[in-house]
Amino acid sequence: MEIKKKDIRALTKEQLRDFFVKEGDKAFRGNQVYEWLWSKGAHTFEDMTNISLETRQMMEDSFVINHIEVDTMQRSSDGTVKNAVKLHDGLIVESVLIPTETRTTACVSSQVGCSLDCKFCATSRLKRMRNLNPDEIYDQVIAIDRESKLYFNRPLSNIVFMGMGEPLMNYNNVIKSIEKITSPEGLGMSPKRIVVSTSGVPKIIKKMADDQVKFNLAVSLHSAIDEVRTQIMPFNETFPLKDLKEALEYWYEKTERKITYEYIVWDGINDRTEDIDALVKFCKYVPCKVNIIEYNPIDDGQFQQASSAAIDNYIQELERNRIVVNVRRSRGKDIDAACGQLANKA
Ligand code: SAH
Repeated sequence: MEIKKKDIRALTKEQLRDFFVKEGDKAFRGNQVYEWLWSKGAHTFEDMTNISLETRQMMEDSFVINHIEVDTMQRSSDGTVKNAVKLHDGLIVESVLIPTETRTTACVSSQVGCSLDCKFCATSRLKRMRNLNPDEIYDQVIAIDRESKLYFNRPLSNIVFMGMGEPLMNYNNVIKSIEKITSPEGLGMSPKRIVVSTSGVPKIIKKMADDQVKFNLAVSLHSAIDEVRTQIMPFNETFPLKDLKEALEYWYEKTERKITYEYIVWDGINDRTEDIDALVKFCKYVPCKVNIIEYNPIDDGQFQQASSAAIDNYIQELERNRIVVNVRRSRGKDIDAACGQLANKA
């Protein structure tokens, strides 16, 4: 019978050090192997050239190195790159590289499919199959960092958790991946350059505040009226706006970090004056800014982007109330790489 070997990347540095001590080697060997696995991105034990053949063989007998593979890569006419990423069990997630004049942003997935059911999002049609491990999230970032260097001659500068899945429903693994991304042994990136986007899970937002995380928080709000929000994001029934508000107040009290609200304006859904007034009111609870995002149709015809006049009404009213508002243009639409379009169509 074949014994299933353990993924060596599931071990912490401490556990690796202990492993080598138990094998009669030095703890330091653990550091070397850790460096190969994380900073140098080794895919095989053979790659670890400063480790003796005997030790490499011993590791080979006990472990596997699971890693992702970029299965297909598509490039958009605007420079956006979409990776379909194959996981060790054959499942696929997508991640996106978004270049601008000054930045390269990686948009990464946190789950295979999604546990939520937002009516306007293509990913919600794939049922949640599983959470990604920390290394599977980290590897997406590394793959995009490589592509950024290759195509744009610069390293990755920012990361957004806005790909497939709800990051706060896979909180522990997301946090572990961010620890790797920010640690000097990983990418050494500043947490200020990372945004975790959530549909709003109040309990976890409070936990993040207690954990004193240093990255930024974005909330996909889309409506500040419960009846409307529940219609388009049915999980709002379980996590209504008053709980979200309370969690965000707690977040600000503990972290003093502004929140970003993501907001799409749809024709006949949230384009009335009362929708705008509700958003303005919601924005006064904690310091924030609003990103109005362009709607990317997911071909069911149910949702249509509101007119530019309707969007202008939002902008005017927010600005009149001294709330910072940006309008975000979509990127990578021609390859289904834009927000809400990730659904393994490639
Ligand atoms: N689950 C997380 C992260 C994934 S969605 C969240 O909800 O924030 C990332 C962003 O894309 C969210 O703001 C989401 O509301 C938005 N989005 C989803 N579907 C979209 C679509 N069809 N067009 C534009 N944005 C969309």
